[in-house]
Amino acid sequence: MRKRRFSSHLGLLFIIAVVLPSVFLALIAIRAINREEAYIEKRLEGTLLTEAGHVVILVNSELEDILEELKNSAPGLREHDPEDLLYEWNSRSSLVSVPFILSPSHEILWPRLSKALSAEEVSFLDWNREFFANNLKIPVYYNIALAYKDEILNKPAEDTENHKAIQQALSQFEQNEAVRSKVYKQAKEKGQAVLPRTVSPSAGSSKKKEETLLEESIFISESLAFSDIIEQGEFGIIPRLIDDKLTLLFWKREKDGFTVGCVIEEEHFRKRIIGLLPVVYSSVRILTILDEHGLSLITPQEEISRDWQRPFIAREISELLPRWEVAAYLTDPDIISSQANFIANIMWLLIFILIVSISGGGAIVLKVLHSEITLARQKTGFVTNVSHEFKTPLTSIRMFAEMLKERPRIDEKKRGKYLDIMISESERLTHLINNVLDFSRMDQGKKQYSMKKVDIVRFAENLMKNQKIRLKHNGFDVRFTVLPHDAESDIAASRLKSSGSIYIYEGNMPVYMDEEAVGQAILNLISNAEKYSDKFKKIDIEVSRRGDFIFIDIEDRGIGISAQQAKKIFREFYRVDDELTSKVRGTGLGLTITRRIIQDHGGDVHYFPREGGGSTFRIKLPIA
Ligand code: ADP
Repeated sequence: MRKRRFSSHLGLLFIIAVVLPSVFLALIAIRAINREEAYIEKRLEGTLLTEAGHVVILVNSELEDILEELKNSAPGLREHDPEDLLYEWNSRSSLVSVPFILSPSHEILWPRLSKALSAEEVSFLDWNREFFANNLKIPVYYNIALAYKDEILNKPAEDTENHKAIQQALSQFEQNEAVRSKVYKQAKEKGQAVLPRTVSPSAGSSKKKEETLLEESIFISESLAFSDIIEQGEFGIIPRLIDDKLTLLFWKREKDGFTVGCVIEEEHFRKRIIGLLPVVYSSVRILTILDEHGLSLITPQEEISRDWQRPFIAREISELLPRWEVAAYLTDPDIISSQANFIANIMWLLIFILIVSISGGGAIVLKVLHSEITLARQKTGFVTNVSHEFKTPLTSIRMFAEMLKERPRIDEKKRGKYLDIMISESERLTHLINNVLDFSRMDQGKKQYSMKKVDIVRFAENLMKNQKIRLKHNGFDVRFTVLPHDAESDIAASRLKSSGSIYIYEGNMPVYMDEEAVGQAILNLISNAEKYSDKFKKIDIEVSRRGDFIFIDIEDRGIGISAQQAKKIFREFYRVDDELTSKVRGTGLGLTITRRIIQDHGGDVHYFPREGGGSTFRIKLPIA
């Protein structure tokens, strides 16, 4: 009962200390696995956005260089014929496509209508005449995050002038959806137009609404007339989206009120921008720049049809290049899910190994703990049992000794009987003490044997002679049989001849052994046969030889041992714990010692249930 409660405590401990934490760990790991795809996507998005950010910086500084180059190369108009100067400028700088001159009142002085005009010059005049004359306002683009940085940062103007504040405003705008919609709303209220983006990046789109509405651009526009634009500085670039096509106009104000400028040569401009791109193709991504139509500046080599409008990430470049974007595409669109799957598989494997090792280890620890505790309990039981076993013979020895002392004139017959009992009880005590001592010697590996060649039949016969008297006195029917050599087939015959103890000794059965030790082993088995016999008090001892082995079978008609218990009875301190055996005192060491002694002699001891009830213990010893 206690045992069962103890096992269930251990079970509970196992669940609390091992199973629950493992399950908890596994759940955490499973959650992590499920989020893996999002993590990978986020990481990749971050890396590619940084890479695209670098390209944006490069393009912007290239735009500054281009502006600087044009400013420095633009001709001063006073000394020469402007026509020559413009031709020279055009041929010197490959950035110049259609050069132009405006009068202080913004009249187009060049290209002159009187000369034969090229196709570019004709369209230049068509597109810009009204604009230069201030009759047409065009959209001028600027970064909404910078224009509204005070609103974004909620700070007054003087605080927000520095570089740090600009960076803060930009990142707030980029990261905070609420801030974005707030400033877009304000811009629209002021009548500023919000440019739609050319692309809609797919990264993180699973989190957003599936619908791929083009996002709003970071660039908003305000319509300004030419004179308002050029009032803001000495020189600059005006991007013009005419029929959805981008043209860049360079202008520079001369001291005397004239304006010189040019249409920037598209082919050359594009080439310079392309030259800024780092490695376009890597194993993971394709990085490119998209123009105002959302088309890649670089024609991809192997390209399968790709949806350029749907990059993984994209960044807008500059107010001077409205609708242009730096965009990155995944080389393999499935890369995220396949990486996530790979990691998930590894994680599953690790979880599996973790759980198996935790529960396996836990189970082993608990098993060891359980057997240690059982052994400790058995040892405690052993102390109680052995004290009782010692007490019984001691009490009777003392009782008879006192009787002899108190009654010195007791008759001889009684005195003899008392002394016999005292001798027999002290022998029992000696046997018991020997068992305990032997066990501790064996446990420490100190047991020594004095071996000699012994005829086992004579030895067993002598041993039985002393036992028989006592056993018969206790109501036992004892039979000692020696079977003929290799006599399996003759068993029946030999049994027939038997009357009491039969003795068919046909030859030598020598064994190399320690007489005292083997004697003790046999006595242990006989003592058990006696202890565990109930109504049918019958003990058979059979000695036989088969091949190179001697067998000594000790058989009883006692209570027997169940198959379940039979596996354990040779363990140290083990005692069958049931109704029948609980009445019998014992130490749980008899069979342990018996088996060790016999094994030390190169043999073994086995238990067999006896046909018709009872037990058979078989000693097997090698012949000398
Ligand atoms: P013990 O001192 O308890 O007899 P043993 O090691 O000699 O210790 O025996 C171990 C257990 O095996 C005993 O407690 C008993 O239950 C069982 N056993 C041993 N011999 C017999 C037998 N001949 N018949 C039935 N049970 C036996």
